Amino acid sequence: MTSLRLGPGPSPWDSPDRKLPTGELTRYDVQSSPPQSYSINNLELLVDDTGTAVYRGSLKLPDSPELEKVVVKTDFFAETLRQSAFQHEVDMYELHLSSLQGLSIPYCYGLFQHKGEGDKVSSFLVLEDCGDRIKDVSSLANSFKYGYIFHLVNDVYSVFAGRLKALDALYEIHCAGYTHGDLSLHNITNRDGEPFFIDLETAEPHKCEMTERIIVGEERRRIECDEIDICCMLLEIWADVDVKVKDLFVFRRAYLRRENIDFLLSLLIHRNRNTEVFRPFVEQLVEKIEAEREYYRNVPPEKRLILPPAPK
Ligand SMILES: [Zn+2]
Repeated sequence: MTSLRLGPGPSPWDSPDRKLPTGELTRYDVQSSPPQSYSINNLELLVDDTGTAVYRGSLKLPDSPELEKVVVKTDFFAETLRQSAFQHEVDMYELHLSSLQGLSIPYCYGLFQHKGEGDKVSSFLVLEDCGDRIKDVSSLANSFKYGYIFHLVNDVYSVFAGRLKALDALYEIHCAGYTHGDLSLHNITNRDGEPFFIDLETAEPHKCEMTERIIVGEERRRIECDEIDICCMLLEIWADVDVKVKDLFVFRRAYLRRENIDFLLSLLIHRNRNTEVFRPFVEQLVEKIEAEREYYRNVPPEKRLILPPAPK
């Protein structure tokens, strides 16, 4: 049986009297392994929440002189313990998605359990430290400006590399047969430009139907996977739904088509009763958007930036 000892660490601010357990925690083993003793020290609170507290610390493995930087996620301070959710999550790391550890998801050192009063089991999931959770898309990649891609196709991969890597990482999870189940930017971490997906408590089996290749900045279109579509929205990979014009007008991008010019002018009636004064301007804008559409339609599949292999 593998066990873990935790060094002293702070408690969440609204649970100051409850201290982390000092005794041995036992590993919830998905496969039996030879007995080993782990210890984690230098614990600092990363997420100060009694529902789910998260620590950073240094893991000492018995067979290595090095200290590993790890993150410990626990429900120890929570009113309602989530033993089965943690067991589901560690099964995702160690069984179902084990080939993606260190790639799309952190390496997992195991789930350790503490038996408290009334045999209530609290959980401590120990993962490789894969950097901070991303707060906004720009922290993962440079900002995406409307129309920018049009002029910088050759450089676009470096500009958007972080976002594309994140989308690829999620696609790998799908190809392995699962959804993440709780997508938000908060559940993606960034370590030196490498994205990782965390919080797999609600991952579910999934057969991905997605076979198309997506290019950053193209108009949102129907693709065959809802979660990939949501991820494209979160990562601002699809073009903006609205096209803002100098803070004066906002048009739905989908309406900006040659056959809609009269309709678009009618939307501007509150600006000027004689909407014809806007015609040259609206025509110019529509031509620009139609030219972008034409461009994206003509990008050959092999030149598209996201190149998912067909799921097996
Ligand atoms: Zn999918």
